[in-house]
Amino acid sequence: MPQKELVIIIPMKKSNKIFIPCEEANHNCDKSQYNEATLWEKIKLNIHLLYCRICREYSSNNGKLTKLMNRKEVGVMPSSEKNNLKQAFEKELSNHE
Ligand SMILES: [Zn+2]
Repeated sequence: MPQKELVIIIPMKKSNKIFIPCEEANHNCDKSQYNEATLWEKIKLNIHLLYCRICREYSSNNGKLTKLMNRKEVGVMPSSEKNNLKQAFEKELSNHE
């Protein structure tokens, strides 16, 4: 049995930038909350979070929202409703900038 799980393939062809702007980090953060981010996007996000305090705060706020949205009663919410909630949340966040 080959040790498949130890092999990590990072798709480099799209972008090999390690340092990404906050905008992209936030976008990757949103995607990772919904399990839509690729491994490479998560890695870049984590690297960004190491040196960017603003995005760390954004990320932790986002995490709280996701926890809330994953609650059972919110789980049956249609995705359009979830998007509305997400947009409202993002608007709220941008007001604090
Ligand atoms: Zn940042």
